[in-house]
Amino acid sequence: MHWRAYKILDESVAINLPLLKCAPDKDPSMSDTGITQIADDIAQVRIPLPYALNIVNCYLLRGAEGWTLVDTGLNTAAARAQWRSALNALDITPDAIEKIVLTHMHPDHFGMAGWWQRQAATPMPLFLPERERRQMQVFYRRDNTPLYHQWMLECGMDEESVDNIENALYSTRDLTQPHPLAQRFLRAGETVRLGARDFQTIHAPGHSDGQMIFYEVDDRLMLCGDHVLMRITPNIGSWPHTEPDPLGRFMESLEALSALDVRLALPGHKQLISDWRGRIQELIAHHQQRLEETRAAVSSGARTVLEVATQLFDMERLTAHEWRFALAETLAHLNYLHARGGVTRIPVEDDEATRWIAAEVPRR
Ligand SMILES: [Zn+2]
Repeated sequence: MHWRAYKILDESVAINLPLLKCAPDKDPSMSDTGITQIADDIAQVRIPLPYALNIVNCYLLRGAEGWTLVDTGLNTAAARAQWRSALNALDITPDAIEKIVLTHMHPDHFGMAGWWQRQAATPMPLFLPERERRQMQVFYRRDNTPLYHQWMLECGMDEESVDNIENALYSTRDLTQPHPLAQRFLRAGETVRLGARDFQTIHAPGHSDGQMIFYEVDDRLMLCGDHVLMRITPNIGSWPHTEPDPLGRFMESLEALSALDVRLALPGHKQLISDWRGRIQELIAHHQQRLEETRAAVSSGARTVLEVATQLFDMERLTAHEWRFALAETLAHLNYLHARGGVTRIPVEDDEATRWIAAEVPRR
């Protein structure tokens, strides 16, 4: 059976970095400044990214002490130009930014934090989730590279493809320079003042182990980072640096979050979310279906992560940058099934790709 094109044209199942099937955003309401006013005191600023997923949403919240900036973009010339025109439109200078807050340490969110700090006469403080330290090291330490090299070989990639993927990783790494200066850490359950509003910090794992989202009870607003997205599903990946079972933790987190009363969620990509619970249910249903497809791929003879990924994604249309996300997402689904008895990992010799087989269905 030829599954390759399966669901590839349905944007709702795109993962948030390998957006092969997702046409670049052409939002008719997007002004030259990239600004949408969410409320009197909240502006969304859309910053261009050099990928198929071509925009990251950042937010500016105005307060008595200055503005809070939530997430930043990747440090490219186009992004710097967009920030300058946004500040002009809002009639503020970088010195008006009181602090920077990051939802998670993926490059498209933290990549301009260091640049931002250097725009002000005195670098503004930077707050990030404490549990994102490990994610941070991926982009801070080049000596992590052998770990990723080995991981991709274990997924079944050949050396040449691994080299291409590594080069894509280096160029993304370069776009996070200069790295931010001093950082302060946020913990779950705190109240943090963003602009003129008090938000509760909520740990939202899955897309990133330590991602933090911010909930304002009074106005029922959620700054949800990449945890819940419209039109695309957040990339949930098992990487060498991630804690076990990211998909299981993501699903649990979504179940818990659907109990919250959210009027409007402000995400890191794509459109604002007005049907919070409805979108969460769609994301859960998507992964349940993907788990079935993953198990079916293994049952039909796919053995390595790459072989399974080839049945789930249109790998030939992905760029080197996108391949690693497809592998990590596939592995997250295999690990989820493995932890619950759906598939089995078979031991292999060193330097061989890990192999997966269907588990016997337990008899009652
Ligand atoms: Zn992300």
